[in-house]
Amino acid sequence: MKIAADVFWILWTGATAGSAQTLRIALYDYSGMSARGTERLVATADAVFAHSGIHLVWLHCRGIGAPANESGCSEKMQPNEMAVRIQPAGPPSVDSSGAPLGRSFVTAAGGSYATVFVRAVQALAARFGVPFDLLLGYAVAHEAGHCILGPGHSYAGLMRPSWNRKDAGEISRLGLHLTKQEAREAVVRLKLAELSKGL
Ligand SMILES: [Zn+2]
Repeated sequence: MKIAADVFWILWTGATAGSAQTLRIALYDYSGMSARGTERLVATADAVFAHSGIHLVWLHCRGIGAPANESGCSEKMQPNEMAVRIQPAGPPSVDSSGAPLGRSFVTAAGGSYATVFVRAVQALAARFGVPFDLLLGYAVAHEAGHCILGPGHSYAGLMRPSWNRKDAGEISRLGLHLTKQEAREAVVRLKLAELSKGL
């Protein structure tokens, strides 16, 4: 009886709003990140999205964490998946400290592809005195936010168009997230994407 009750409880809680939504991220590192750097990037983005009830699942498709044959990297992208490239330089022709940290290819419905520029992240990390890996994780999380929510920016939090010193303070405490409204919208969109896979 105990087991049956546990199973019922799991199914019941899984069917309510409390269940975490999943976003799968295929990571392509062209910048030669270390294993430790990759771990910190992943842990940072995980923490940012966990705050909004979103669980990230990572596929290491290129770079030091990538196994020889990661199944899933060559498969067709699913609605709740995205691919992010970590580029060593860039963005092209804009290499000043005010350069965007990344770019995503999205419509109002979201998208599946984003790039983060290591040199721009390094410049901003040095300017604000925050660890590079941490800011890189935040830059990936910001672009993942666009892939779920579309191209818009917000007045506060993770999806601000650019981060200032105050934001950098929040970033170093892992305190910058989606706003409550964005988090709700993101969960709904991921839920719908999950449902559309079965159609
Ligand atoms: Zn943006």
